[in-house]
Amino acid sequence: MVDQFIITIDGTSSTGKSTIAKRIAKKLGYIYIDSGAMYRALTYYCIKKKIISKSFFNKNVLINHLPSIKIDFIKNPNSNNLEVNLNGEFIESKIRTLEVSDLVSELAKFDDVRKYMVEIQHSLGNKKGVVMDGRDIGTVVFPNAEYKFFLEASSKLRAKRRYDELVIKNKEISFNEVFENIISRDKLDTNRSNSPLRKASDAILIDTENLNLDQVESKIMDYINFSNSNS
Ligand code: C5P
Repeated sequence: MVDQFIITIDGTSSTGKSTIAKRIAKKLGYIYIDSGAMYRALTYYCIKKKIISKSFFNKNVLINHLPSIKIDFIKNPNSNNLEVNLNGEFIESKIRTLEVSDLVSELAKFDDVRKYMVEIQHSLGNKKGVVMDGRDIGTVVFPNAEYKFFLEASSKLRAKRRYDELVIKNKEISFNEVFENIISRDKLDTNRSNSPLRKASDAILIDTENLNLDQVESKIMDYINFSNSNS
């Protein structure tokens, strides 16, 4: 049987991690796990239950709710893709809003939340044959992963990419709102004490500023194929 690997792709928001991770997983016949979608799903839940808003975060209520919240990745029969599922509901279309983006990093700082997520991530990745993207996948979740990549690009370019995606669905959105959200999440994700966003020392750094998605994908696949042929 051909060996299967864990491949981690970390980096700041809107560096193209998810698109690239999805493509690599498809190429290799692996599953793709979007760990950011898990944090977004929990944030969506907390907004609905009035556990978090811009002015409050009721951590004790969340601790009581956590054991009964089920976040999983299941094939959605409508899209035929493996999608994040919250307590039996496919919520992919509801978690990319600016409302969720504005609160998710505050929630992701919380130790109990990270512990809860890492347990699920381990159970999803332990059979290998997985590409997982996020902020702490190569450093904390799978420090022994066979392949680790870290993507970066300037905040202006990342905000432009995110704005172009969001404005299709919401014409009211402004570039500045998106830019400020990216800057604020970068700050919270990098400066939190638990599992801050860092490049793992053994991760391959890819600056995507002047590369298109095909070029980033080729860089990653070339690296994997080259290492495989030499091992
Ligand atoms: O990847 P995405 O931008 O959808 O992630 C949303 C947020 O979830 C991030 O800004 C970060 O606060 C949190 N996150 C995290 N650890 C991960 C993945 C995402 O803290 N592994």
